Amino acid sequence: MEEALQKLKAEATADLAAITRASDLEPFRIKYLGRKSPFAQLMRQLGDAPSEDRPRLGQLANELKKDLQLLFDEKKASLVQEGAGESSGIDLTLPGRMQPQGKLHPVTQIMEEICAIFEGLGFTVAEGPDIETDFYNFEALNIPAHHPARDMHDTFYVDDSILLRTHTSPMQARVMETKQPPLRVISPGKVYRCDSDITHTPMFHQVEGFLVDTNVSFADLKGVLSVFIAKMFAETTPIRFRPSFFPFTEPSAEVDIGCVMCKGKGCRVCKQSGWLEILGAGMIDPEVFKKVDYDPELYSGFAFGLGVERIAMLKYGINDIRLYYENDLRFLRQF
Ligand SMILES: [Zn+2]
Repeated sequence: MEEALQKLKAEATADLAAITRASDLEPFRIKYLGRKSPFAQLMRQLGDAPSEDRPRLGQLANELKKDLQLLFDEKKASLVQEGAGESSGIDLTLPGRMQPQGKLHPVTQIMEEICAIFEGLGFTVAEGPDIETDFYNFEALNIPAHHPARDMHDTFYVDDSILLRTHTSPMQARVMETKQPPLRVISPGKVYRCDSDITHTPMFHQVEGFLVDTNVSFADLKGVLSVFIAKMFAETTPIRFRPSFFPFTEPSAEVDIGCVMCKGKGCRVCKQSGWLEILGAGMIDPEVFKKVDYDPELYSGFAFGLGVERIAMLKYGINDIRLYYENDLRFLRQF
């Protein structure tokens, strides 16, 4: 018995030493360490051995098994290290395959950031249709047919009374028609204008906001927009309001911030002025309230609209708006 064990050990050691390919390891394991191996058979014969020899033989058999397992493990490790594992079809030195990971478009990210700031100020989000009627896009906003302001919009008409909305302001009338003040609403979404160059795309994104209540003043408008700009850019960003004209607000203003590129010193982006136009705003025109049966003597409110791409361009220092829509992953992955 002892002799048989020693012989088996010598045989197995020699066999193992001869192995040069990882694919030969498994047959070896089955042959010498498996359930039907000669070793397993010897173990079963152990019961027939004289009782005084049994403990010694048992110990010997266990040691043999341990030694073989150890030699086998070492061999396996050395073969894998040498790269011999390739023959089994697995090259452990190859880098892993990365799962492609998607992320939000930079314009979506900025739009969500804008909405989050206004939601923090108590505004709720209302979304409306991209295909709009002439009434909500123009008439309800105090822009009747043949009003010169229509020219600024470069509208895509579907037919005489249906169009692709040129701003998200139609939501003002849509919300006011169905709800009573006090109202604090922002309306983010896509808008369309027949225009394309370095700062314009035929489709772009706007966030429109308005607040209606009793005793709302221009100071409230300045306060809300100042908080927004401080959160969107930096606490110290300079702001100025310039008189302007929109048919649906009176008085109207355009809001500039100190140029984020040159910090107000003057550069190509701000055309040497040190200021960048960032949004339009104003007090809601009483004519707009009359269209939705609000009493202009009782209620007042303000509205503002901003271009999401423009804010993203200023925030990230992008100089061509068309980059957003060319689907170049090298560009999009940076955000
Ligand atoms: Zn500048």
